[in-house]
Amino acid sequence: MLQTFVGSPDALGRFGDYGGRYAPEILVAPLDSLDATYREVKDTPGFQAEIAELFRQYSGRPTPLFYARRLSDHLGGADIYLKREDLLHTGAHKINNCLGQALLARQMGKRRIIAETGAGQHGVATATVSALFGMDCVVYMGSEDMRRQALNVFRMRLLGAEVVGVDAGSCTLKEAISEAMRDWASSFETTHYMLGSALGPHPYPLIVRDFQRVIGVEAREQFLEASDGALPDLLIACVGGGSNAIGLFHRFLDDSVAMVGVEAGGHGTALGEHAARFSGGIPGVLQGTKSYILQDEDGQIALTHSVSAGLDYAAVGPEHAWLRDLGRVQYTSCSDGDALAAVNTLSRLEGIIPALESAHAVAEAIKRAPSATGQSFVLNLSGRGDKDIGILRENMPELG
Ligand SMILES: *Cc1c(COP(=O)(O)O)cnc(C)c1O
Repeated sequence: MLQTFVGSPDALGRFGDYGGRYAPEILVAPLDSLDATYREVKDTPGFQAEIAELFRQYSGRPTPLFYARRLSDHLGGADIYLKREDLLHTGAHKINNCLGQALLARQMGKRRIIAETGAGQHGVATATVSALFGMDCVVYMGSEDMRRQALNVFRMRLLGAEVVGVDAGSCTLKEAISEAMRDWASSFETTHYMLGSALGPHPYPLIVRDFQRVIGVEAREQFLEASDGALPDLLIACVGGGSNAIGLFHRFLDDSVAMVGVEAGGHGTALGEHAARFSGGIPGVLQGTKSYILQDEDGQIALTHSVSAGLDYAAVGPEHAWLRDLGRVQYTSCSDGDALAAVNTLSRLEGIIPALESAHAVAEAIKRAPSATGQSFVLNLSGRGDKDIGILRENMPELG
């Protein structure tokens, strides 16, 4: 019998041994309030209709499921379908979650939004929906990230957000998250913390997954229609915190469909050279949740590296840790070099420049397709590559 996977974590937010809520006492009340609000509204016709309308009119859903004929022919094996989240407003799947959380913030009467961002993509999506809802927006960002991502800092400011630099530790995402948590502890009466991936203390991993689940719901229907009622053989998605991957996977968990999540293999297997939590990490607690984490022998959080900023984080979402231990989803990693090569391949064969994050999934499809004749793959193209043009250009000097 097929084990049933679809559902929710337990009341404490635990996915098996993972997840939960490892948060300071002061944050229990706002987390409970978010959880209660979400459960109260999520299945009401009003909430469902409003989010469906925002998806359709504002962010551009449903996104197409595109058969990549030239890529498939070139690889000479599996038929590869691309779920085009790259076509959404702001260029990636992150907007799905931000629109949902903005509705929850409004429901709770909160007029101020805070968020943290690493590369700036979640900050831009948060600033975007804050403008749309007429809410004040403050984005915390490590000062080193602000320097590296000056264009996204400008975008957020153009959208009316305040960007606050964080000068502590490595001056990157981890410190920005801590600062956002500190803000929230003293501001939650008026402020919603908009967390950007399927991570953090309960109920965030559940809420973010549910708002991203639309990816797989659409893809499943679209695939069934395109293939006379058959299901795909394999789903492929990149895994940073894990929101786009769980968004694609979740609706298929009870089907007999294989799934693979692709982490950032960076440029080596030593600690500090990658962000492959499942091959290099061990279970632990980071920023409110229990999951696989990259840490050194003393339990200090390791530095991570990836050419794609969105995959460059020391922890992975707890639901993925659970699915991995159950053997329901397989996880692998892809090197910086293979991801860059995959950007090239997809650009030339299909006229689609993928985000470097998404290119990790493309690279896995390129690896597997030749020996998978007769199979169909559905690959989540989580974002478009415009944001990465600077990095791509540095890495492809032959193109000028
Ligand atoms: C942020 C980002 C990711 C990684 O985040 P997940 O929560 O793992 O989905 C992947 N792709 C793109 C395009 C992103 O912007």
